[in-house]
Amino acid sequence: MVIATGISSVVTQLLTIREFLTQFKGNEIVIALILFNWLILGGIGTLLAEGIGDTIRVSLTGDPVQEVQSGYEILKALNIRQHGPTIISCPTCGRTRMDIVSVIEEVEQALSEIDKPITIAIMGCEVNGPGEAKEADIGIACGQGMALMFKKGKVIRKIKEKEMIPCLLSEIKNWG
Ligand code: SF4
Repeated sequence: MVIATGISSVVTQLLTIREFLTQFKGNEIVIALILFNWLILGGIGTLLAEGIGDTIRVSLTGDPVQEVQSGYEILKALNIRQHGPTIISCPTCGRTRMDIVSVIEEVEQALSEIDKPITIAIMGCEVNGPGEAKEADIGIACGQGMALMFKKGKVIRKIKEKEMIPCLLSEIKNWG
């Protein structure tokens, strides 16, 4: 079976090449160019399949150490690679109940050394916040002076504003 397949393959290739040469008789340069491009594209395809080109280069004006983190953030946003926590936050609006920007800054700072792939949602109100908070691994929907904490889509506790960040960090550290 293997020998028959090999023979038929060789015969098919010979017939194809013969037909090819008949069609392009007198156009050897064209044939050479087609074969050259074929080989080059095949080679490039092999290199790409082996990973050459799977790189990302980020240039920042500031501290170059941040370029690595920015690269990870781009890959996380594209769902190509998870590295450390992913924080989702709301853009804030007239319904926002807390200073979400400073909450996120504090949480980001506290999580800078954690490399667990976990999704955290920090949302600014109890109206639209729960929807997004439920989708994350751990989510917070802020209310007036309090917040609801979600874990895997379920409410696990109602916490006071001043306890919110420590509780959130504790849940994240115990995650997984
Ligand atoms: S989650 Fe609430 S506070 Fe945040 S943008 Fe949506 S409606 Fe506004």
